[in-house]
Amino acid sequence: MSGHISFDPSSVLLPEGHLVGGQLLRGEGGIAVHAPSDGSVRGHVPEADAGLVDRAVCNAADAQRNSGWASCAPRERTRVIRRWAALLEENRVELARLESVCSTRPIRETLDWDVPFTAEGIRFFAEYADKLGGEVAATQSSLLGMTISEPYGVVGAIAPWNFPLVMGSWKVVPALVAGNAVVIKPSEMTPFSMVYLAQLAIRAGLPAGLFNVVQGTGAVAGDALSRHPLCGKLTFTGSTRTGIAVMKAAAESGPKPVTLELGGKSPQIVHDDIRSVEEVAGRVFRAFTGNAGQVCVTGSRLIVHRRVADELVERILAMTRNVTPGPTWRGDTGYAPIISAPQSARIEQIVARSLATGAVAMAPLERLAVEGDGCFLSPSVLTGVTAQTAAVQEEIFGPVLTVQTFEDEEEALSLAAHPVYGLAAGVHTSDLGRAMRAVRALKAGTVWVNRYGRSADFVIPTGGFGGSGIGKDLGRQAVEANLRHKSVLMAFGA
Ligand code: NAD
Repeated sequence: MSGHISFDPSSVLLPEGHLVGGQLLRGEGGIAVHAPSDGSVRGHVPEADAGLVDRAVCNAADAQRNSGWASCAPRERTRVIRRWAALLEENRVELARLESVCSTRPIRETLDWDVPFTAEGIRFFAEYADKLGGEVAATQSSLLGMTISEPYGVVGAIAPWNFPLVMGSWKVVPALVAGNAVVIKPSEMTPFSMVYLAQLAIRAGLPAGLFNVVQGTGAVAGDALSRHPLCGKLTFTGSTRTGIAVMKAAAESGPKPVTLELGGKSPQIVHDDIRSVEEVAGRVFRAFTGNAGQVCVTGSRLIVHRRVADELVERILAMTRNVTPGPTWRGDTGYAPIISAPQSARIEQIVARSLATGAVAMAPLERLAVEGDGCFLSPSVLTGVTAQTAAVQEEIFGPVLTVQTFEDEEEALSLAAHPVYGLAAGVHTSDLGRAMRAVRALKAGTVWVNRYGRSADFVIPTGGFGGSGIGKDLGRQAVEANLRHKSVLMAFGA
């Protein structure tokens, strides 16, 4: 169908280095970067130690102080950032290919979604540069009180591998719009698109040194970044476990504020009054198989009214047999590989533990045959589960759906509650009252009603409750979180 967008992965030039002060720093050896599609090594990136991280952060602090980025008319920042979005669109094909080679994102999706969605997000944030001032209050006749907002200086950012470009941009762009410099550490498995994004920003007119990328492992480079005294603020997306480590490092080296976008175990409640079982089956299916379940908001727990359960599950099972796995560089690939062999083994292990405690595989988790050494796992549906089943409790980050049934609304809400996570939830019903009661009752940073997942609604922030995080990406809030407010009290006259 989309054969013409296929490409040869070895034709893509990968920027194999750190980017510090606008310079690509290549190093010897370092970390091998694999294509999840076939396990082949596609490139290497050098591994930052604490010294390199220190150099990048100090450089960023100097650039932020001396470049005039924070002190220029905010509208000037808007102009540069808009040009950056336009450059992204001009280089859409090259960036989409670069993103597809070493990630799980098929080229059809990076071309149609990841790159255009990132460009739109950049434009959205650009408009906030001159809209987030402080407040003024005349507290007494001879006293003027006000708050003025200012950037932190350097924002340290750490990003995951599942949507390297989109997630990375949500960390970097709001920080820059607010007048900060940024040092980002992408995942060591998907290091390239942040470098390319930074190079485009510099071409658009961003002063070199404001957007820096350090490559390396979490334990060394990520930790050094989190602890750096010149990082005034940290923004992190990744697992809950690592988020806690980042927050500890932030406390020990500051304290400094953190934004944490963490893991989830999101429920989808389906009532028996839905308009179309077929339509909801499609939504539920996409919500647990998109990016092969490697999405923070994967709707991995189906909680369905007993009356519609059989028909809904039947339809979902039929869909599980029609996925189109393949290398991410092929235009007809519609189903993503798993990021790595250890991650595949982890998914299989959680399913095996669940089966050992009574779960029943209506659709078994199987390795799908695709040429090469990549790991592709079929969508799996598990019934016979309880709140104690491993697949219900743990974030799997794979294409696994558990099914639990209910008789009434109260039972549905009680099954939906999770002791740790509170990232997202879906409610599918024709009854507005029922939907609103669920919206109020669910512990979730985002609740979707009669849909699931995000499209171009940037104005609505995203972020989790409880173990799923602190603070918001997207929305006005994302830019505000990169500003601190200074209070000024000015006496005048006698
Ligand atoms: P991860 O926590 O393993 O790694 C995330 C990043 O943290 C990587 O860059 C890694 O190198 C770095 N890191 C690891 N240890 C570190 C340390 N001690 N100090 C500092 N940095 C460290 O997560 P992952 O496997 O890359 O991504 C998957 C996870 O991310 C899932 O749990 C998923 O739910 C979550 N996620 C959440 C959102 C959201 O918006 N809530 C979005 C995408 C992914």
